[in-house]
Amino acid sequence: MELIDRILYLKKEKGALIVAHNYQLPEVQDVADFVGDSLELSKKVAQMENRLVVFCGVKFMAETAKILSPEKTVLLPRPEALCPLAEMITVEEIRDFKKNHPRIKVVAYVNTNADVKAEADVCCTSANAVKVIRNIDGEEILFVPDRNLALWSARFVDGKKVIPWDGFCYLHKRIKRKEVKEAKNRHPDAIVLAHPECDPDVLDLADAVLSTSQMLRYAKESEGKKFIICTEVGLLHRLRKENPQKKFFVPRALMCRNMKLTRLEDVYNSLLYEKYKIELPQEIISRSREALEKMLEYA
Ligand code: SF4
Repeated sequence: MELIDRILYLKKEKGALIVAHNYQLPEVQDVADFVGDSLELSKKVAQMENRLVVFCGVKFMAETAKILSPEKTVLLPRPEALCPLAEMITVEEIRDFKKNHPRIKVVAYVNTNADVKAEADVCCTSANAVKVIRNIDGEEILFVPDRNLALWSARFVDGKKVIPWDGFCYLHKRIKRKEVKEAKNRHPDAIVLAHPECDPDVLDLADAVLSTSQMLRYAKESEGKKFIICTEVGLLHRLRKENPQKKFFVPRALMCRNMKLTRLEDVYNSLLYEKYKIELPQEIISRSREALEKMLEYA
């Protein structure tokens, strides 16, 4: 049997659900029941009845699914698939910061590990960060870990002091203003969509600054025919599949090495041996869930 058929057979036999992030390899996206951003997928996992879930993404994403569905078995096919951005902030660093800023409120981007989420007052996504900051009850906010998303969101919030943690996504940081300008010169009629993890001087060139799900929606609904996409190249698979009549370009084809670790063989082995299980202490699940629920309330 072809590997894909074996995966689909095993998935059916075990009643499992496979979800894949928008940045996963095209062939991994194609065997998934759902493809989306991390929070969309975690919500989908919670809605579905399947008890066994293979999460094709990086660790913090599978953890978020586990936090929202603690009764389910959530598997991460490659345990070493970490997000370098999420690794840039630790619980100890937040606690130390709080000691010197007793009135500070902590907003944690979903791209954080579960123990960091548990330490935060509220979580946010790149799509709802502005609303969360606006609505949080506090004037001084520590935003972790992505500096660019913090700076971008702060542009739209008056009367609050947003202190950005100095973390960054190495991939989005590699998208340079000069390359975006060159892409615009090559495709002058294209609409530029940029992810808020990009540097501020790249965001200044964008027609719209959007999360991956927002980019997918924008491309579908826009009357534009050409788009320059400033994010991980994996998003193009879905953009092209869903909009065959439109053209998508990237300033430079950048791949997140961590997102590309998961191969079809890993998905198969994960299903077959039910590995690698996400395990979190109950206390971390409860506290991080509170921060995620607060986000839904504020946003
Ligand atoms: S693209 Fe950036 S934020 Fe996403 S997993 Fe890779 S390093 Fe983390």
